Amino acid sequence: MSENPTTSNFLRSMVAGDLQSGRCQKVVTRFPPEPNGYLHIGHAKSICLNFGLAQEFGGTCHLRFDDTNPVKEEMEYIESIKASVRWLGFDWGENLYYASDYFEQLYTWAEVLIVAGKAYVDDLSAEEIRGYRGSLTEPGKASPWRERSVEDNLALFRRMRGGEFPDGSKVLRAKIDMSSPNLNLRDPVLYRILHAPHPHVGARWCIYPMYDFAHGQSDAIEGITHSICTLEFEDHRPLYNWLLENLPVPGHPRQYEFARLNLGYTVMSKRKLLQLVKDGDVGGWDDPRMPTLDGLRRRGYTPAAIRLFCERIGVGRSDSWIDLSVLEDCVREDLNEKAPRALAVLKPLKVVIDNYPPEQVEELEVPNHPGHPEMGSRKVPFGREIYIERDDFEEFPAKGFFRLAPGREVRLRCAYFIRCEEIVRDAGGEIVELRCNYDPATRGGSATDGRKVKGTIHWVSARHGVTAEVRLYDRLLTTASSTGDDWKAALNTRSVEVIAAVLEPGLAGAAPEDRFQFERLGYFCADRHDSHPGAPVFNRTVTLRDSWGKGGQSPA
Ligand code: ATP
Ligand code: MG
Repeated sequence: MSENPTTSNFLRSMVAGDLQSGRCQKVVTRFPPEPNGYLHIGHAKSICLNFGLAQEFGGTCHLRFDDTNPVKEEMEYIESIKASVRWLGFDWGENLYYASDYFEQLYTWAEVLIVAGKAYVDDLSAEEIRGYRGSLTEPGKASPWRERSVEDNLALFRRMRGGEFPDGSKVLRAKIDMSSPNLNLRDPVLYRILHAPHPHVGARWCIYPMYDFAHGQSDAIEGITHSICTLEFEDHRPLYNWLLENLPVPGHPRQYEFARLNLGYTVMSKRKLLQLVKDGDVGGWDDPRMPTLDGLRRRGYTPAAIRLFCERIGVGRSDSWIDLSVLEDCVREDLNEKAPRALAVLKPLKVVIDNYPPEQVEELEVPNHPGHPEMGSRKVPFGREIYIERDDFEEFPAKGFFRLAPGREVRLRCAYFIRCEEIVRDAGGEIVELRCNYDPATRGGSATDGRKVKGTIHWVSARHGVTAEVRLYDRLLTTASSTGDDWKAALNTRSVEVIAAVLEPGLAGAAPEDRFQFERLGYFCADRHDSHPGAPVFNRTVTLRDSWGKGGQSPA
């Protein structure tokens, strides 16, 4: 598997062109998360893009916390974001920044605008400001405070900083154009009053810059060459440029927009993800059903699979939805190569091999990866009583069913042929056990007389198998896209099934985050938190093939 470098990515060509033409000497990008939640797979697209461009063109990529709204931001989020970026395989080196570290500089620049008559203190409430702004078809109306003198504005702004006014009573606005066709230029708010301590800079401030006033200037301070953001900021670009043109900033970065990732059968906004956490719909930000990087990690996704996904979907400028199966295929591709194989039975059905010596145990050699002999093999114990997958037996086999059935012979993986002789039922008529006979001449899985069987099934020795909790995860939502306010109506109420599975004994020693292919079933990962050597707990990362809508997983 290779991370194909030729997937469409218009920013790659843009950067190459800028370096060639001398527009910039060295590319400097940044990934600018707001620490108001955990990172999700959409952020991975941005991380891979920004860090990837820097890597590819010998530049640098900064990690910058865009931390201008202390009310929603927390230290826990800062730490989780750093860990997620590292886990994904990227390194910001020395280049860790916080927009909040620029607050003093930003404040000074706000005064520069005031002195130049390009910003004013407005006493209108947030609601009034919205009302005065007009609409796409109607020009805005000037605030009655728009023509305050420079002296008054300066004095008021200083008093705002000094903590004299309550939250929401005043804002600082840029004085641009109330009739601009671009609503973002109708005197945008630059600063608001928020008497709230900040997770990074503490209780020093009670006025905070808005995103628009912080972002471009932070880019300029850090010498960013390509400020890459998602398409919804396209309309902010004129404001981004206006601020840089009207302030004595040390450089003029350029903003480029790309289409955000939308992924089917899940939600992506941090606001919605937080709601799932708060409402207890999931176990936390790192619940394996969440599209967060911590959730995907816990589910068993590898960083390489997520990077492959980000490369494969490309970077363009038109909004589109990516099917969840694209992400799932990436982890299948990665793990198919890397994950050692193991035998596990998820829904056990007991099989007694009547003609097998009762006390005999054989250690059978099973390859760790059929495609990679260099990964070696292991010994798996086999005995008279085994478990097979309940679905691998049918009393009345349909046409095309080649596994075990009354009177039928099937191959046990790397073991023997067995033939089903008898069905044992409980009082209620449920099948609880099969009695079989084996052919000792088929050890290893082939018959000396050349007779063939069509089906091969997996098994675990009943005496040696380890019972373990296995969590089978499914899609978070039942509909591909749910955007309205009632998105929670689409929550999949059966997104997790916890079962007691029987695993080959070697899996007892699995370390947290060890990944395996349970043969014929899918990829499974020992839970980061709940699994311990001796008491493994596995999460199903993904089934072997896409079986959504086909009645769930059924081993072929
Ligand atoms: P959300 O709406 O999920 O809360 P956000 O845009 O508010 O996301 P930020 O922390 O501001 O989250 O995002 C950091 C960077 O990640 C930004 O540059 C943003 O454009 C980018 N980003 C966020 N969501 C996506 C997405 N779905 N696809 C691609 N990039 C994204
Ligand atoms: Mg944001």
